[in-house]
Amino acid sequence: MRALLFESFAGPLSVREVPEPAPPAGGVVVRVAASGLCRSDWHAWQGHDPDVVLPHVPGHELAGTVAAVGDGVRRWRAGDRVTVPFVNACGRCTQCAAGEHQVCVRQTQPGFTHWGSLAEFVALDAADVNLVAVPEALDLATAAALGCRYATAFRAVTQVARVRAGEWVAVHGCGGVGLSAVQIAVAAGARVVAVDVSADALELARGLGAEQVVRAADDVPAAVHALTSGGAHVSLDALGSPVTCANSVRCLRPRGRHVQVGLLPPGQGRAEVPMERVLALELQVLGSHGMAAHAYPELLGLVAAGRLDPGRLITRELPLDDAPAALAAIGRRPGIAVVTSF
Ligand SMILES: [Zn+2]
Ligand SMILES: [Zn+2]
Repeated sequence: MRALLFESFAGPLSVREVPEPAPPAGGVVVRVAASGLCRSDWHAWQGHDPDVVLPHVPGHELAGTVAAVGDGVRRWRAGDRVTVPFVNACGRCTQCAAGEHQVCVRQTQPGFTHWGSLAEFVALDAADVNLVAVPEALDLATAAALGCRYATAFRAVTQVARVRAGEWVAVHGCGGVGLSAVQIAVAAGARVVAVDVSADALELARGLGAEQVVRAADDVPAAVHALTSGGAHVSLDALGSPVTCANSVRCLRPRGRHVQVGLLPPGQGRAEVPMERVLALELQVLGSHGMAAHAYPELLGLVAAGRLDPGRLITRELPLDDAPAALAAIGRRPGIAVVTSF
């Protein structure tokens, strides 16, 4: 099969012929119809993820059809249209028993712990636990975005931050997960302040309903405090950097909630969280890591009802042959790119 492969960290990216995967016991192989390009794929390529073993095929934000089914799978058949959260839970550990599959202690992640979906086929573990049926009305390119950034943003805004109508929500970083969070927070009735270094990214955020925007070159906490009459109720670091993390905590009003959504690889420098403010203002510092498959029906219901529109976030569809250049350019070009031909 054809796949995007790298043999050294931050080295050349190329599309090559590699062996097709076989379905693991309890798992499936999916013929990939769409695979989004995400900043986490860029981190994998750069060598920021200790799980990645070379040579490697990235890609974790996928939708497609089941091509082969492994021993012991009960719920899925060849031809089923599916997507999957990027955290593939084991279904048997203590966290899974509590329904918290997104923090499964024996999780696997396509594109990180094994070869991923920037390829014609991808193997997925524990299919009965992790696969999500894609409704006929939802196209597979849009469904692919649900696997990582959109579902991650949905959980961060609605389930972790528990955003309420009328609250101010600051979103730091308007890449894929940040723009998703803007759309979801607006749909939840929140008033959104979007923050980014890029004027183009802020324009996309405005188009999705952000009421205020802040160029990140300014004093971000001061600007957010001024625009929100005292600070945001909720703030998301949707980029993942020491600066955006600290800005996110500092822009909160008393009793505000910070949610860490973007990855913070320690090699990039550790974030300095101003814990004196956390204490004095009774802030909450929360983490959000994907979303369990069993939590998808609420999200899919809102999409089907037209209340959320993840398809609007896709700015480019491209062939696999263009993926090496697009992956290398992540973070420099606003919007969301999805590979839709292999
Ligand atoms: Zn588990
Ligand atoms: Zn991702």
